Amino acid sequence: MATMQGVILPGNSTVEFRDVEVPEPGPGQVLVKMKASSICGSDIRAIYREHLGKGPEAYQGVIAGHEPCGQIVRVGPGCKRYREGDRVVLYHISGCGCCDDCKHGYMISCTSPLRAAYGWQRDGGHADYLLAEENTCVRLPDSLSYVDGALCACGFGTAYEALRRIAVSGRDRMLVTGLGPVGLAAAMLGKAMGAGLILGTDISEGRRKLAEELHLVTRALPAEPDPYEQIMDLTGGRGCEVTIDCSAAPSARLLALRCTRQWGRCCYVGEGNKVEFDVSPLLIHPQITLYGSWVTSLYHLEELVALLDRWGLHPEDTCTERLPLKEAPEAYDLADKGQTGKVCIVFDE
Ligand SMILES: [Zn+2]
Ligand SMILES: [Zn+2]
Repeated sequence: MATMQGVILPGNSTVEFRDVEVPEPGPGQVLVKMKASSICGSDIRAIYREHLGKGPEAYQGVIAGHEPCGQIVRVGPGCKRYREGDRVVLYHISGCGCCDDCKHGYMISCTSPLRAAYGWQRDGGHADYLLAEENTCVRLPDSLSYVDGALCACGFGTAYEALRRIAVSGRDRMLVTGLGPVGLAAAMLGKAMGAGLILGTDISEGRRKLAEELHLVTRALPAEPDPYEQIMDLTGGRGCEVTIDCSAAPSARLLALRCTRQWGRCCYVGEGNKVEFDVSPLLIHPQITLYGSWVTSLYHLEELVALLDRWGLHPEDTCTERLPLKEAPEAYDLADKGQTGKVCIVFDE
């Protein structure tokens, strides 16, 4: 029996390697040779530092990595669409397939005990091979690299879903609070969807610099001291029609809301933490619609990769760190420090 190494996260900011058998695809399953498998902020927040997730975020000691992308090398009995050699990105949650949420493609919201996310409750992408359900595969357009695909599996998918929900268009100016990987994704996609002025904020100078160097934002402003007046000056005193918080910092959430124009839309995407604000002056009186948005749907992931192909955009531009699987401890440490762009584990071709 062939074996491979997989990355396990014990929850004390360390990484362990475990030898496991290369799995055999059963009915409706495919075996995917991993090519790229990136690290998400949720991996750091809810697994790497400590196992604080519950329910859908409960980590069950499996191989980590919920942003997998690779090539199908074996197909189990009864597969209907995919064949050996197909390049695929994984929608990272396998749902029951029967509930309302699953039927709409939002397996992320499936509440069945059968629901299992790659890298959380079933083995993920930080190993040479991944056993996947065929119905969680999304074909990767030829123009997209495996790193492009991995970044769509959670981060870019999450940003796209939020922008879609707040219906970003050419009529909008946009503020992104938090220029980590999801914030950079929101800026890149928001620009493609037509947003004119795009402002970003972050406490990290490195991240602000990266956002400006990649030409994803018009201006990247320090999150401290409070950039409210600057943002108002840059928007004719009105604020932005759409705002999106990708940081989860209470002050940044508040800033996003304060900088939302009257009748505008604000979306909270950054996970965890809290926020407290005076509801009348900040939400009710300015007639603001406040959204929450969690990951994306299977169909919207398919739509996203098709649009990236059409737009000629590459999420991998935001990936500043590429490391081999054996350097997973360094990769997680880099992601934890939060000073870089996206961190991705890459595999030999
Ligand atoms: Zn994620
Ligand atoms: Zn379901």
